[in-house]
Amino acid sequence: MSQSVPDATDVFVIGGGPAGLAAAIAARQRGFRVLVADGAQPPIDKACGEGLLPDGRAALERLGIHVPRTDAHPFRGIRFVSAALSADARFPGDSCGLAVRRTSLHRLMTERAALLGAGLLWRTAVTGISPQGVHLGDRVVHARWIVGADGSKSRVRRWAGLDRGPRPRLRYAFRRHYRVAPWSDHMEVYWGDHCQGYATAVSREQVCVALASHDSSLRLEEGLRALPSLAERLRGAEAVSSERGSLTGNRKLTHVWRGNVALIGDASGTVDAITGEGLGLAFSQAVALAESMESGDLERYQAAHRKLALRPLCMARLMLTLDRRPWLQRRTLQVFEKRPEIFRRFLELHVGVLPPLHVVRDGLTLGWGLLTA
Ligand SMILES: Cc1cc2nc3c(=O)[nH]c(=O)nc-3n(C[C@H](O)[C@H](O)[C@H](O)COP(=O)(O)OP(=O)(O)OC[C@H]3O[C@@H](n4cnc5c(N)ncnc54)[C@H](O)[C@@H]3O)c2cc1C
Repeated sequence: MSQSVPDATDVFVIGGGPAGLAAAIAARQRGFRVLVADGAQPPIDKACGEGLLPDGRAALERLGIHVPRTDAHPFRGIRFVSAALSADARFPGDSCGLAVRRTSLHRLMTERAALLGAGLLWRTAVTGISPQGVHLGDRVVHARWIVGADGSKSRVRRWAGLDRGPRPRLRYAFRRHYRVAPWSDHMEVYWGDHCQGYATAVSREQVCVALASHDSSLRLEEGLRALPSLAERLRGAEAVSSERGSLTGNRKLTHVWRGNVALIGDASGTVDAITGEGLGLAFSQAVALAESMESGDLERYQAAHRKLALRPLCMARLMLTLDRRPWLQRRTLQVFEKRPEIFRRFLELHVGVLPPLHVVRDGLTLGWGLLTA
């Protein structure tokens, strides 16, 4: 740690990934003095599908970040692909999603946080928290609020005693980039019997490919063999990044705050990568958290957090019912292929254009479609 560190701040954010930077930006937008510490050196990369759905993109824009076209590649909808079937739906209206390399997103968010005056401490690992404040080795920084944004394996969560919640069922995920011209203007989900592949074009010459499964030994290249249509698209394409892995899955915590500590982003619970919603969720949580800190009442954040997570968790559960049920996968894709309006409605639900209550009604419509297709 070479930077000078103040003795006190209003908000200390532990972790300078997308969630931590979003928390810092939203807190600065409300006038708090903010410090962010991260053990890594920017720009920070991570295993991610790198897609921002239209709602996630809007949440990022609420933080004042408009990703320039030079740093992003748009996509118009979602396509589901299996060995024999393919169904797609466009986002409502003329909205589009954006695929952004994690390193570019991190750079843009860091610039925005710095511009707003947040203090950014890189290569600075937080070693503990106590009633005195945040510990950086021998140093202690007093903070009115402490924000745990230290990712899915959060130590802040453990330090604050917030680890309780239903046991998550985690999956293993890997991602890599390939030099190949985009073949689609959709974010694609390739369904195999035991894994899914996600393909998102991040530029005019690169596609980000991720793979998720319950099998800890299934790495990306091997998994592609179970997804022949995706493997065919990538045949001969040069891999231009190293393979990065991470755990993914739905994790819900009983509480996301205690005392003056609040959790955000993956530290506060996760939605499976299949939703493409982790980033957007963190950006929306950041605004809710800043509002709650301003009101002095973190219980408001708890309520907002629960509400924000409801839709992505519902969608993740729905989509994961297709995982490892090849017959249901086939039937669902048949319905989506034959009746694209049902798929379009699901996408509208997914990006928050329709309220979660519709999940029940549209679930029934899909159920009827499954029986009658
Ligand atoms: C395979 C995969 C695909 C995905 N695809 C998508 C997608 O397409 N779209 C989407 O929106 N979401 C996607 N997600 C989810 C998304 O990547 C996460 O939700 C997001 O990265 C969470 O960001 P975060 O800032 O909470 O955590 P992280 O990005 O993990 O950041 C945590 C930070 O905390 C720092 N840190 C940890 N401990 C300490 C400490 N003690 N002191 C200081 N710093 C510390 C780390 O260095 C790190 O920088 C995907 C996830 C996976 C695994």
